[in-house]
Amino acid sequence: MNSSIEEISRVGASTAKRLRDLGVQTVEDLLFYFPFRYDDFSRISKISDLQVGQSANVVGEVEIIQNKRSRRRRMQITEALVNDGSDTLKITWFNQPFIAKNLRVGDRVSLAGKIEEYGGLVMVSPVYEKISQTTFEKRASSAVHTQGLVPNYHLTKNISQKQLRFLIAWSIQAAGQIVDWLPEEIKRELKLVNLGQAIKKIHFPARQQDIVIAKQRLAFDELFLIQMQSQLIRQDLATLEAPLVEFKTKEVKEFVDSLPFKLTNAQRKAAWEVIQDMSRRKPMSRLVEGDVGSGKTVVALIAMLNAAFAGWQSVLMAPTEILAKQHFLNFKKLLEKHGVNIGIITSSEKNISNSQTANRKPQAKQKLKNQKLKTEEIIANSQIIIGTHALTQDNVNFNNLGLVVIDEQHRFGVAQRKSLLNKSGGKLIPHLLSMTATPIPRSLALAVYGDLDLSMIDEQPRGRKKIHTFIVPEIKREKSYEFIKRQITAGRQVFVICPLIDFSDRQGVKSAKQEYEKLNQEIFPDLNIGLLHGKMKSAEKERIMSEFVAKKIKILVSTSVVEVGVDVPNATVMMIEGADRFGLAQLHQFRGRVGRGIEQSYCFLFTESNLPRTIARLQALVDCQSGFQLAKMDLKFRGPGEFYGTAQKGFPELKIASLFDYQLMKLARGQAIKILSSDPGLDKHPKLKQKVKNWEENTHSPTFPN
Ligand code: ADP
Ligand code: MG
Repeated sequence: MNSSIEEISRVGASTAKRLRDLGVQTVEDLLFYFPFRYDDFSRISKISDLQVGQSANVVGEVEIIQNKRSRRRRMQITEALVNDGSDTLKITWFNQPFIAKNLRVGDRVSLAGKIEEYGGLVMVSPVYEKISQTTFEKRASSAVHTQGLVPNYHLTKNISQKQLRFLIAWSIQAAGQIVDWLPEEIKRELKLVNLGQAIKKIHFPARQQDIVIAKQRLAFDELFLIQMQSQLIRQDLATLEAPLVEFKTKEVKEFVDSLPFKLTNAQRKAAWEVIQDMSRRKPMSRLVEGDVGSGKTVVALIAMLNAAFAGWQSVLMAPTEILAKQHFLNFKKLLEKHGVNIGIITSSEKNISNSQTANRKPQAKQKLKNQKLKTEEIIANSQIIIGTHALTQDNVNFNNLGLVVIDEQHRFGVAQRKSLLNKSGGKLIPHLLSMTATPIPRSLALAVYGDLDLSMIDEQPRGRKKIHTFIVPEIKREKSYEFIKRQITAGRQVFVICPLIDFSDRQGVKSAKQEYEKLNQEIFPDLNIGLLHGKMKSAEKERIMSEFVAKKIKILVSTSVVEVGVDVPNATVMMIEGADRFGLAQLHQFRGRVGRGIEQSYCFLFTESNLPRTIARLQALVDCQSGFQLAKMDLKFRGPGEFYGTAQKGFPELKIASLFDYQLMKLARGQAIKILSSDPGLDKHPKLKQKVKNWEENTHSPTFPN
């Protein structure tokens, strides 16, 4: 199972690389790379019974096969006649002349494809498979591609369904060696099959029911592991103690009154819940959930500020340097008059704000001014510390940490989140506040995230306008640029998002670099345009972002790095190239980058695709402004198994289970609780214990962190 895929015969270095692009490194990965749908070729049709429009599987003998060149278009056509004893069928393939070499007159062949009418019935471009005489007579159980329920996998370029099926069929013999970690008692009670069986059935089902059975087991596993982990965390937490952080009513009220806006009721309630939690010795585990732009940050700030007034340090961890920097500047501005120092610790920046009334020794102040700051000095002199994952490094240690805030919590692994909580500098464990824009409803969040407390910010600040969203056809591209020009003349700013960084051989996919060149040189030569992508150095990203915030850069061409949390209220146009390449939830996140100020904002969706399915999906974004609704639709459009390769931001990565399968979630939760509350708990199930441990290390689980 742990063998590298390269050790499978017939997998060369280049195939191995392509498989790695799919996340497949070992035989085990291969077996856990599940199909997303099946072609049903479970009935072999008699040629004499075929109807136009039908998808069919026929098995017969090749009578004639030859290549032709079409006159009108420069195309190679392979034509064959196949006879199955009932009648003869014409087969055509286009531009695959090698087929005439692979198949010879007299060969037995199994064909799967659609029947069309061109002056007689024709099967056009079928999948074909040569089968031997004996297997043919035995009803060909060896046919993998054309008979029975044939699995279809998500692929990258240069790997074919046939290749992948072949490799999986070859590896499936190892399925018997898969460690089945699920306790027998659970399998018995819930009538779940063994893991090895489930794997065999999901790839090569003999009948529809096999798929159902396999999915039941595999979906249960995913949800059960999530629940196991959150129950374990809950157990741990119950034994720990957190600092009692007093509610500094007067100071907090003063701060709230000084804000440039009035808090929404939802923000007020969330802040209250957090402050209440923190005034107890039981460690807080609270998740603040709110759609993009709902104003989660200020809730966290209130909590951190209250902690500061009560004499405790707080730390906020953000997923990107851009975001950390933005929080730092924003907090600095809001806290200027409140006598609280803020530090920032990222891999490229270590700094501290200069609060005038800070009670720092003059000597220390001088030192801070003159020297390149060290992490320890920042920590010693700030009440609020903001940073990225750099905060989790070993040399970062706090003195009296009372509160840990994790922004965009789904972007962090469990280990990263955990490590911060262990840096409190004392026996007490800090309170934990997580924030996420993951749009799932309360009932579900409770099930998914296990046992945390939840504050929902379910209202947008007043005066926010609906963001006008359009799918823009190519012919209106010029008009869109004119519109953008007018917005910029009126003082606004614009985002342009592209799916790729660089020019690539993926035809027709826009890259940020190319679009940047085009806009900079051809379309808006007189405007200052910026480029942002994930391969740039942090300092460079920082510079570009701060120039955009300072309104020096008018148009920011970027990849999905701006997806998370970036706040530039003056930006009013979000233009997305290759919109079909993003999930709805992600597009909604992009769109959430505009419409943050008082001006009317716009979102333009460009796509090269005209598939009805794609357009329908994008239309959902036009019609709907609620992140939750969109996430639901996203799942509907893609199906829960379709997360491969385009990892859905904000959702736990589930291959089989649906987050909306509340019943199964409850079942999984019940079983997790039962295992842990029995004696001696997890120790009775060593395989499960090991699995939970591995899983925790390898996933960005949605579970609330400890
Ligand atoms: P998110 O929930 O997506 O993290 P932010 O906390 O970044 O959202 O807030 C989005 C913007 O809304 C910020 O510019 C913030 O200052 C502003 N904001 C927050 N709360 C309010 C409010 N009650 N009224 C008006 N604007 C607000
Ligand atoms: Mg945010």
